[in-house]
Amino acid sequence: MIFNSYDDFKATDFKPRVAIMGSGPAGTTIARELAARGISVVILEAGAADYTEVSQDFYAGKSIGDPYFDLTQTRLRMMGGSSNHWAGWCRVLDAHDFVAKSWIPDSGWPIARTDLEPYFGKVRDILDLPEFKPDKPISDDIHWVQLIKSGAVNFGEKFHDEIAASSHIALVLNTYVTALTGDGKRVTGARIWSAGKDAGTLEAETYVPCTGGLENSRLLLWSNATSNGGVVPHAEALGRYWMEHPQFKGGDIVITNEPDVEYDVADEAFFSPSPQAMERLGIGNFGVRFIRMPYDGVKRLVADLACTAPSLAEWTAKQLDQRMRCAAQLHVAWELPPVASNAISLSTSARDHAGVPRIELTWHKGEFGRKTLLEGIRLFGETCAAEDIGRVRIADWLRNGEDFPTDQELAGHHHMGGTRMGTDVARSVVDANCKVHGMDNLYVGGSSVFATSGQCNPTTTITALAARLGDHLAHRMTV
Ligand SMILES: Cc1cc2nc3c(=O)[nH]c(=O)nc-3n(C[C@H](O)[C@H](O)[C@H](O)COP(=O)(O)OP(=O)(O)OC[C@H]3O[C@@H](n4cnc5c(N)ncnc54)[C@H](O)[C@@H]3O)c2cc1C
Repeated sequence: MIFNSYDDFKATDFKPRVAIMGSGPAGTTIARELAARGISVVILEAGAADYTEVSQDFYAGKSIGDPYFDLTQTRLRMMGGSSNHWAGWCRVLDAHDFVAKSWIPDSGWPIARTDLEPYFGKVRDILDLPEFKPDKPISDDIHWVQLIKSGAVNFGEKFHDEIAASSHIALVLNTYVTALTGDGKRVTGARIWSAGKDAGTLEAETYVPCTGGLENSRLLLWSNATSNGGVVPHAEALGRYWMEHPQFKGGDIVITNEPDVEYDVADEAFFSPSPQAMERLGIGNFGVRFIRMPYDGVKRLVADLACTAPSLAEWTAKQLDQRMRCAAQLHVAWELPPVASNAISLSTSARDHAGVPRIELTWHKGEFGRKTLLEGIRLFGETCAAEDIGRVRIADWLRNGEDFPTDQELAGHHHMGGTRMGTDVARSVVDANCKVHGMDNLYVGGSSVFATSGQCNPTTTITALAARLGDHLAHRMTV
């Protein structure tokens, strides 16, 4: 069932056992899993069926520290959430992303990738993905990795008819959960703001915020502030350890012998380090996006090289005459370590129309991030030289220790952390089942639970975690 307003929903006698906030990939996946097991679910969705400026304005906020996207543009507040404009690049985090690393403080998850594997079949059905392929080493240090460029499932469209016809799911649009109320052991209700006014409190047995990787922290911070700490009793880590994937062009490569790997339809291939190489260099995970250049681009690269690296230009020009096939740009996305000071907090001066404090996001890429980028591209270059794949030129700004360019991709719109998973209540917010520490009926869906970020796009892992959480809740509620 789909309702356009909370009033329409209230006029029914539908009694939800589970209240999910948000109809993006996380919320929709959990709701479908529960409905398939006969459990009644309400999805409270703040936005409308279509994009509106009025709804989007509730997402406005401020970022402090390194440059970041406008917070109204890095996500969508509408049915289907940010799946309305995601690019559909898919990969599950690497097995070693879940493992604690001695050189990265606060790394490690309380679950392993194998805990998500049983849900990969469902994830492929949901996201319309082919089989996942194993990594292919091109050396001991560097592996080709599969990053699937999918058709970018729009959850609001793909599951619209199924939800509309469901007797177990009520999706209620234009219904903003401003805060949860709680007594330090259980959530007691969800406070609703709808049609421009306070619309009372909705009660259910279990509550699952799936409002996105920025908004989950905001909702829980404000819930705690208005419930005297009764929603997240151990709140030391709440809003903290926020992460993104910075993305910049790290260099170029003149190719001598193309690596024997798969290129996708856009003529791109992706490479990552082995865990042994990461440990040896003391760096995080990274992904090199190898974008093959057409011949014109290669000629421009040689002309450019002639000014900055004449001997490399000479070598390259010779290759052009001989066996060189092509060149490629090297864009790098990398892992930021979980750092408590990269955090979401509530503004003390700016509020949205419902009176909820707006977000202040503080993030810095930090020294470790820069080291990962520089050492990572060097390692990739050394591998390419050793394997006679080609010669890498590291971007001038990076080699010379200059500031990050301001005219590039910047980051991935990947909002991770804030309600991270862990066992230590001082350093995490949810446990291995995504349940908030100390609370009996409050769970969290989405990339805010990521304990570390790895290097790949998050939504495939979000969907796997959501399928697992739905399964866990269904089991818990039916035994
Ligand atoms: C331009 C762009 C490109 C991207 N490309 C990729 C990609 O290629 N691959 C990838 O893996 N990821 C990509 N992403 C990220 C991806 O979109 C997100 O990871 C994913 O949408 C997160 O799903 P979610 O369900 O956790 O949150 P969201 O999709 O953000 O959904 C949250 C939902 O909650 C609703 N909501 C918010 N607050 C409340 C509230 N208080 N009460 C009720 N409802 C609320 C929102 O309206 C929304 O519908 C991209 C993102 C952007 C912006």
